Amino acid sequence: MKETIILDGKIVSDSIKNNLKKEISLLSDRNIVPKLSAIIVGDDPASQIYVNTKYKTFKKFGCESEIHRFNYDISEKELIDFIYSLNHDNSIHGILVQLPLPSKINSDKILNSINPKKDVDGFHPHNLGLLLKGTPSFIPCTPLGCIEILKHYNITTESKHVVIVGRSNIVGKPLMNLLSGKYSVGNATVTICHSHTKNLKNFTLIADILIAAVGKNNIITKDMVKEGAIVLDVGINRIPDQNKEKGYIISGDVDYSNLLSKVGAITPVPGGIGPMTIAMLLNNTVKSAKNINESN
Ligand code: NAP
Repeated sequence: MKETIILDGKIVSDSIKNNLKKEISLLSDRNIVPKLSAIIVGDDPASQIYVNTKYKTFKKFGCESEIHRFNYDISEKELIDFIYSLNHDNSIHGILVQLPLPSKINSDKILNSINPKKDVDGFHPHNLGLLLKGTPSFIPCTPLGCIEILKHYNITTESKHVVIVGRSNIVGKPLMNLLSGKYSVGNATVTICHSHTKNLKNFTLIADILIAAVGKNNIITKDMVKEGAIVLDVGINRIPDQNKEKGYIISGDVDYSNLLSKVGAITPVPGGIGPMTIAMLLNNTVKSAKNINESN
């Protein structure tokens, strides 16, 4: 029996970040330092960790990063005005608003106020529209990370059946467009499932490549996957565990330990798509720094 391949997001993301060093150094020779400006509202602990990890990665790879923290009581207008000031700051190449925002703030209005040329998360309707059209500019980081990990392990998608569970604008829908599009990692037949899908298992069982992006621990169990399938687990779930120092463990949407003996390849959580997402954010910010300075 073939051994299951662990799709190691740590190794692949390190390789992507190291490959970016050359471009960062070429920009540095021209006195250009790729710079990310991250906005966080409130004190959600998971969001704080994500923003801090991104910050550290940027510093480590010779890029700049700043975090703007706001209290829950900031108004939509204040936030939008602040984003406009970042839009006009020539030293900033990437603007990121950490989601989720407090419910009283309209996330769409906030994301729409980011200059699409600095929209390194790829959530602005302009960038999502380009992706839909098949001429992407900034591709959202998590879907791009999924594509890059498949590419790294030479997993072909052409003519395969990909089943994506989850249809969010930041993961499921961009992935659907990428994998069904006319790209080297693309040309797949894609089925997208969501909370209204009846008999989810009927779909997951016929997936050559199964991608779970739901946010429900172990929603994908061993009986739901085909023998030899490729499984990407995007989910990040905090499971309370008093035996751990932090009081929780991070787990995915897939019952990883039980699937291991059945699937052809699988991403772990943590250490799979998470690190890929951060590498793609660095990638997009370096790309933005190059684009902005070429068009000046
Ligand atoms: P989201 O906006 O909450 O979307 C979740 C999707 O799952 C929705 O489309 C929802 O369907 C669907 N869903 C919910 N229950 C379902 C069920 N029982 N059966 C089938 N589909 C179901 O979440 P998201 O932002 O896409 O994130 C998904 C997960 O990925 C979360 O755990 C998040 O933390 C994680 N994530 C990880 C990374 C990373 O870097 N690794 C990045 C982003 C997100 P409806 O549309 O019908 O509601």
